[in-house]
Amino acid sequence: MNLSYQIEQYLPQHLVELVKNISGQADKLGHRVYLVGGIVRDLLLGYPNFDLDLVIEGDAIELAQQIAEISQAKLVTHPRFGTAKLNYGNFTIDMATARGETYAKPGALPTVTPGTLHDDLFRRDFSVNAMAISLAFNDYGDLIDPYQGRSALEHRLIRVLHPKSFSDDATRILRAIRYEQRLGFNLEPQTARLLKRDIPMLDAISGDRIRHELELILREKYPEYVFKQLDELGVLQRINLCLKGDGWIAERFDKARQLSKPGYLPSLYFCLFIYPLSERENEQFIHRLNMPKKLSRTLRNTLHLKGRLSLLDKPSMKHSEIYYLLHEYDPLAIQANAIASESSPVHSHLQLFLTSLRYVKTFLDGEELRRLGISTGPELGRILQTLHKAKLDGEVNTKADEEKLALSLKP
Ligand code: ATP
Ligand code: MG
Repeated sequence: MNLSYQIEQYLPQHLVELVKNISGQADKLGHRVYLVGGIVRDLLLGYPNFDLDLVIEGDAIELAQQIAEISQAKLVTHPRFGTAKLNYGNFTIDMATARGETYAKPGALPTVTPGTLHDDLFRRDFSVNAMAISLAFNDYGDLIDPYQGRSALEHRLIRVLHPKSFSDDATRILRAIRYEQRLGFNLEPQTARLLKRDIPMLDAISGDRIRHELELILREKYPEYVFKQLDELGVLQRINLCLKGDGWIAERFDKARQLSKPGYLPSLYFCLFIYPLSERENEQFIHRLNMPKKLSRTLRNTLHLKGRLSLLDKPSMKHSEIYYLLHEYDPLAIQANAIASESSPVHSHLQLFLTSLRYVKTFLDGEELRRLGISTGPELGRILQTLHKAKLDGEVNTKADEEKLALSLKP
């Protein structure tokens, strides 16, 4: 099968030109170069994907250097791994020297050796991701499909390449369900059996790697479908006994998409994901996933605030009271609680803080209070806070109002 038509049709013109440049340059060096992985899968499915992954039978770094020169890309190389990344600002291209991998023991990082394209395809997760397209001059566009990936696409199946795949690398369990749900495919029956058998192998995977795969799930359009399936298979419980992918999560994720800016969505999803946990279970989760400091803090904040929501469960509250209950919490933790809370006063108080109260500022600052003759010290801080509360509660509006109030408070 030849896919030069699909390359022309589905890739934007500038990428087509780049691909041709790379092909020409590789030919001069006598290297063979191939498109591999997700881009091949998506070209065959007709889905948009502009992440180009290239494998080179030959020196990827040398080729990447030449491409960077002729196409004004920023180049980052990793000589130890034989990989290079070309950065064009709004998109990137990854290039790797073809390699093979062997696993000394389950869950260990693989031993890597230079290899052929076929070795490189054999180390991959699923047959739908183990295809390549040649970019060499003499067979440009030819599909290389040693593991019947195209047939798996036609039958809408996720299939591993060999029975040890999940035990070699149990992150593939999470990956399998992610692709299954994204593409609307099924696990091929033998793959499903192997996956269930090897769920305990997740224990051998480092926190960083599990977290990375969860982050990839959270970048999917509907992560809740993936979590539901992982819950039903008992995969979530293997990561932390108390995690759930139920209807509650699905509804909250949907609300999160309506309320959050896309950049914050993965962290907000994380807050909702741990929402049903106790603080102790959350600590276990943070530890298991080796969560970075900032996100750990947001997750702890979320549960801490959850424990104090009853203070906000009143029909009417002074704005200053709402503000000073919430101002030290991370806005994402507040957003998560607003989405999760069943109580309508709680929800509206949290939303009010997020959309307006947190931005309320007085006209006067410390400097201007000193000019009014109020001396630096704890008194000044107290007056500033009184002004801020009065402003929040609508008791002062103009700068003149604030000056009047400040002078009346002067000792
Ligand atoms: P996506 O559309 O999600 O980016 P992708 O196929 O590009 O899909 P990546 O996570 O970007 O997926 O990885 C690129 C390729 O690397 C995959 O297509 C797959 O062949 C291979 N790969 C990634 N992770 C693994 C793994 N744990 N085991 C084996 N192969 C993997
Ligand atoms: Mg990718």
